[in-house]
Amino acid sequence: MKLHEYQSKDLLAAHGVPVPGGKVTANAEEATEIAKEFGGKVVVKAQVLMGGRGKAGGVKLFSDAAEAGAFTKELIGKKLVSIQNPQGMIVEKVLVAEQIDIAEEYYLSVLMDRATSQLVVMISKEGGMEIEEVAEKNPDAIVKLQVDPAFGLSDFEIRAAVNQAKIPAVAAGQMVQMIKKLVAAYKQSDADLIEINPCALTPEGKLIAADAKVSIDENALFRHKDYAATADDSAEDPIEAEAARRGIAYVRLGGDIGIIGNGAGLVMCSMDEVKAAGGSPADFLDVGGGAQAERVKSCVELILMDDNVKGILINIFGGITRCDEVAKGILAAFESMEINVPVVARIEGTAAEEGRKLLEGTKLITAASMQEAAQKIVAAAYGK
Ligand code: GDP
Ligand code: MN
Repeated sequence: MKLHEYQSKDLLAAHGVPVPGGKVTANAEEATEIAKEFGGKVVVKAQVLMGGRGKAGGVKLFSDAAEAGAFTKELIGKKLVSIQNPQGMIVEKVLVAEQIDIAEEYYLSVLMDRATSQLVVMISKEGGMEIEEVAEKNPDAIVKLQVDPAFGLSDFEIRAAVNQAKIPAVAAGQMVQMIKKLVAAYKQSDADLIEINPCALTPEGKLIAADAKVSIDENALFRHKDYAATADDSAEDPIEAEAARRGIAYVRLGGDIGIIGNGAGLVMCSMDEVKAAGGSPADFLDVGGGAQAERVKSCVELILMDDNVKGILINIFGGITRCDEVAKGILAAFESMEINVPVVARIEGTAAEEGRKLLEGTKLITAASMQEAAQKIVAAAYGK
């Protein structure tokens, strides 16, 4: 889950990384007031989850607070289009930040190197522009530093890498400290990417993160409820965003048979069975272990937010999950909302007998096996 620049900077500042002062707003008058607090010398930056905002006209420097306000007014509601994001994104908020004087622009990032299964720190003297461009034109200008998973990084290793990247002496010591903080922030916040571009050196010789991009590993969002709550609908599928807010593992797949299961393996298996039966899965949804009635209901709601859904397959193998709890959830869903599509349930395992009893005599179609359930839902949904 990508965080906005202002959120990324707050996160990094909390780990001791120097960032320019600034405040986020969706209002032009407020932008003027914030700009005044910084003496009018500010940079106004569109808070959209895409790269290349500068080139797209979403970042502008000012020396007058009223002008910063006027630009904010112009920017809010506007669609920004960049090379990385050709379909564009609507600006809802801007960051009004203290404008720093920049003598040099460097690049820093921390990410997972899938080839070595280790964290890697990337350092370059060629900041400011897109790193892909640097990688293409001048690959030697990017220094990669592997982070040993057991021992982490030692100061001398970081210093050697910073020197290899030809970062001038005035900035080198500060950069070593910044890299240590970025790696700590990465681990502690369960990030999957931290990128500082530009990492700016001021004429006075101070190193500061002028831009920041942090992305949090979505599988760790349960540990970061505050971020989960701010999941940005504009960046992703709205149903997936809602699922993230509810703490439900849901991936939209574009088909028309809604699938709920417990455990990722069983859900994937159900998807395969639906395909084998001639259907097209609308989603991957793992209700999780120990699913309570309320949660099952919430999952059914989520699936029905997708207008394409023609039928729902519920496949539960009760271990920790009690099938009677699941059955109660299904019944609660039926009672509290209008479900106009067929629902097939296959429930097996702990308290399955009690669960099935609860479902008897309802609109629900039951099935004894996964294969049978898949065939039944495909037949019912497509009217075959
Ligand atoms: P991006 O284009 O989305 O990556 O947005 P950035 O935050 O990186 O801003 C783009 C460019 O604007 C940077 O590379 C800088 O050159 C410039 N910029 C951003 N903030 C400041 C600032 O505070 N002072 C100065 N002088 N330039 C800035
Ligand atoms: Mn940038």
